[in-house]
Amino acid sequence: MRAYERLLRYAKIHTTSVDDAENVPSAEREFDLSRLLCDELKALGMTAEVDGHCYVRGWLPATPGCEGAPCVGFIAHVDTAPDFSGEGVKPRVIENYDGRDLPLGESGRTLSVSAFPHLPALAGRTLITTDGTTLLGADDKAGIAEIVTLLEELIAGGEPHGKIAVCFTPDEEIGRGTAFFDIPRFGADFAYTVDGGIEGEVVAENFNAASADVAFTGVNVHPGEATGIMKNAGLIAAEFAAALPKDETPATTAGRQGFYHLTDLSGNVEAATLHYILRDHDAGKLEEKKATVRRLADAFNETYGAKTVAVTIRDQYRNMKEKIDEAPYVLELALEATKECGVTPVTDPIRGGTDGANLTLQGLPCPNLGTGGFAFHGPYEHITVEGMDAVVSILHAIVRRAAKRKK
Ligand SMILES: [Zn+2]
Repeated sequence: MRAYERLLRYAKIHTTSVDDAENVPSAEREFDLSRLLCDELKALGMTAEVDGHCYVRGWLPATPGCEGAPCVGFIAHVDTAPDFSGEGVKPRVIENYDGRDLPLGESGRTLSVSAFPHLPALAGRTLITTDGTTLLGADDKAGIAEIVTLLEELIAGGEPHGKIAVCFTPDEEIGRGTAFFDIPRFGADFAYTVDGGIEGEVVAENFNAASADVAFTGVNVHPGEATGIMKNAGLIAAEFAAALPKDETPATTAGRQGFYHLTDLSGNVEAATLHYILRDHDAGKLEEKKATVRRLADAFNETYGAKTVAVTIRDQYRNMKEKIDEAPYVLELALEATKECGVTPVTDPIRGGTDGANLTLQGLPCPNLGTGGFAFHGPYEHITVEGMDAVVSILHAIVRRAAKRKK
C-alpha cells in the first residue's frame, strides 16, 4: 500500500487535541487512531502497545546479523491542531495537478499561487487537498502513514536492518507530546520525528524559548482629583511595549533572527500585564533578550517608583543543536539518505520548537524530517503523493545506512 492511501484513511479519523486540557490525551477521541495504529502494527507482525496516555509503541527486531546495529526510532503524532476543524475531513485527490489556483470544493476558498508560490513546482504531481472546510491532518498523519509504509516494506522486502522502534504520540499540537514519552521503554539509540514540511527537510535546530510576564501596578483616584497622584498602569504598560525593539518581532525577523513577541496585553488604570514570548536560536542572545526586559523594568521603576513594574521570566524549551552536535552522525545519516534519494536537503532552522527537541535534551537525539506537506493547521493544508513516496524512500535509506553502523 502506498503512503498516501494510508493518509486518506487516517485523515478521516477525528483526532483534534484540546488546548488547556488537564489530561493526556487531551481528547479521548485520539485513542480511535492510536488503537487502529496499534492493530495495524500487530497485523504487520510487530510487537505493539497503546498505553493509558494514548502512546502507541511498536518494535521490529533486527534481521539476523544486524543485532549490533543501533536501534533507530521514528516518531509522529496522532493529534491535529485545535486551530481549525479536524472533524469530517474529506480529502480531495487531484491527479496531474496543473500548478494553478485551485478552488477547494464549494467552500469559497481557493488554494492560490499568490499565497503559496511553491504550487507551480507541484505541477504534474497528484495533489491532496481539503474541501476547504477542515484542515487535512497531513500534520502529522502523513508522518504516521510514511512510517507505517516503511515498516510494511521492511517486513516484506527482506533486506537487512537493525532494530526499529516507532512511537505515535498524542497532544503534540498542544505542546504535551513528550509528557509521558518513556525514552527507556522506547529503546532507540537515536530517532527522527517525521513532522516537518517539504520532503527533504532535515532540521536539528530550533529556538531557545522563554516567556516574560510583565506586571504593572498603578494608583487609581478620581480623574478630577488625579493631579500629581494618579499612576496609570495601562499607559505605563503601553510605554513599556513601545520601548522594546520594533525590528525584533515575529513580523520583522526571519531565519536565525530572534524576537520579542507580545502575545497578550490587558489592563486598566490600577493594573496591567504584558505577556511576551522571547525566542532566539542563539542561547546567549536569548539571555540578552531576558536582560533587556529586566533592564527596561528597572528603568521604569526609577521613573515611576519602586515596584511599579515586576518581571517574571520562565524558561520554556531549548535549541536541540548543542546536543545533536555531540552525535553528529544522527544528522549526517539523514542528510546522506536524503541526497541518496535525489532530494536536496532543506536545513533551515525551525522558528519554533519540536517534540524532538525535548527528547534530544532528555538524551534521545532526535532531528525532525519533512513529511512532504504544506500549509499545516488550516484549510489550505496540502501534500503530494510523490512527496510522500520520496519521504518513505528517505526513511528507507536511513534504515539501510544505520544497519551498517555499530552501536
Ligand atoms: Zn505536527
